[in-house]
Amino acid sequence: MMRRRKFISKSLSAAAVAGTCAGLVSCDTEKQQEVNTPNINFNKTYRWKMVTTWPPNFPVLDEGCKLLAKWVEEMSGGRMKIHVYGGGELIPALECFDAVSNGAVEMGHGVAYYWAGKVPAAQFFGAVPFGMNANQSNSWVLAGEGGKLWEEIYEPFDILPITCGNTGIQMGGWFNRDINSLEDIKGLKMRIPGLGGKVFNKAGGTAVLVSGSEIYTNLERGVIDATEWIGPYHDYKMGFYQVAKNYYYPGWHEPGATLELLINKSKLLELPLDLQQIIKTAAYQLNDWMGAEFDAKNAIYLKKLIDEEGVLLKQFPSDVLSALKRYTDETIEELTDRDATSKKVYESYSKFRDSVSVWSNISDRAYYDSLT
Ligand code: CA
Repeated sequence: MMRRRKFISKSLSAAAVAGTCAGLVSCDTEKQQEVNTPNINFNKTYRWKMVTTWPPNFPVLDEGCKLLAKWVEEMSGGRMKIHVYGGGELIPALECFDAVSNGAVEMGHGVAYYWAGKVPAAQFFGAVPFGMNANQSNSWVLAGEGGKLWEEIYEPFDILPITCGNTGIQMGGWFNRDINSLEDIKGLKMRIPGLGGKVFNKAGGTAVLVSGSEIYTNLERGVIDATEWIGPYHDYKMGFYQVAKNYYYPGWHEPGATLELLINKSKLLELPLDLQQIIKTAAYQLNDWMGAEFDAKNAIYLKKLIDEEGVLLKQFPSDVLSALKRYTDETIEELTDRDATSKKVYESYSKFRDSVSVWSNISDRAYYDSLT
């Protein structure tokens, strides 16, 4: 009787794991392993370190990473404990990738475009100006070729990436002057990172790299004339409305920044299979939680900015957006011409976008249009 129960339990565990694996990031590594859950050593506690690119205690982002640690600890019955360090607490914020790669820490959380200097193709897994929105990016990574390509480009660094949160469409940014035409961008100094920054330079502006903690002072002192950050919730917390009143939309440069969980692959494979799956499951739960949190909070704080702080909400003129779109195509062409991996990733990205757009146009877009 006892043996039969053990057999059933083992079969159920195997089925459960196989089921969990389906539809997630490629599971080749798991397939090669024995399902070892019946051999769990309940007395062994695993302690991991996680670093992030986010300021300590930053809402949604740092907050979400700490939630992930809590979920993993709860799901594992306390066998797995992850200590989360905000940017600068253990290592500088932008050294997360290296720290996970060399195994100094087991996990990290950030955005793939931060690693553009090391892996140019990573930018397509962060945010692409005029690119796919959050849902479409999720679909490319989880149900298209995106996830497999992402794993491929991080493989040499012994890192497994998992899509883990999305900001949704960001805001265009804070400007201390009106943007009525492309002429108004000329000579403008703006804090705007990634591919969007390169596009801004082509449009005659000057993209400046300023870390999050220095943006407010630089804007206040006129070192920069404009800045983008995220959306109403986080922008409110940064207080930008006190030093610039024009709040432009849409965030053409980041139409859905995908956030990523970085895991040292060797360290992950050393874990019992159930803990590996618990980490992945928590990551997908965080992916949903962050998206929902951004949407809910942005709506509340946009109203606060307008009603309580007198912020002037303005839309970029369509000819400015058309010009920025043209410069985006040029920027991406230059990148894919000089980097073969970027070319390969972008071919998959644009093929998926073209295909999914046909569907989005008659579903999402047609539905929104019907409401007006
Ligand atoms: Ca941004």
